[in-house]
Amino acid sequence: MRVEELVYNFKDEISREPGGEHIKRCYSCGTCTAGCPVREVTDRYNPRRIIRMALLGMRGEVLSSDFIWLCSACYTCYERCPQDVRIPELMTALKNIAAREGHIPPPLLAQVDLLEEHGRLYEIGEFENQKRRGLGLPEIEENPQPIGRILGSVGTERPPAPSD
Ligand code: SF4
Ligand code: SF4
Repeated sequence: MRVEELVYNFKDEISREPGGEHIKRCYSCGTCTAGCPVREVTDRYNPRRIIRMALLGMRGEVLSSDFIWLCSACYTCYERCPQDVRIPELMTALKNIAAREGHIPPPLLAQVDLLEEHGRLYEIGEFENQKRRGLGLPEIEENPQPIGRILGSVGTERPPAPSD
């Protein structure tokens, strides 16, 4: 990418977002990446690199990437970061900015659809209830309204189409 495409105040924008307050403390030591269990299974996820990209102003690349959604929020790095950057909360801040701009991975939107439709992540049908009856368990009726109210209160309406 070209230097003129960098958004230098991206770090200020992140630090105003709940969870992103400490991003400017990062001095890129790599301790977070060294202990990250997600990093163990995929090279695509590297918290030190994501934070570096954000600090450099690579706004479009960070927000449109799927790697900010890979953090499992295990909090290992939270305990180890010498600068108290609070990485899992920072990743949530990045995801919130990304979501507002329409950058949500399709699999997550599909899960929202299931929750809105069924009140859970899978459909409850006669097959499931037959198994439950066989185990002496009560039947389950689908009741998506309560979860729908929760989803509505946190803003899961379909995001605008990404601009880039
Ligand atoms: S451990 Fe903390 S200071 Fe070190 S790279 Fe990660 S976020 Fe930055
Ligand atoms: S909280 Fe996220 S970034 Fe930190 S170690 Fe766990 S998976 Fe990695």
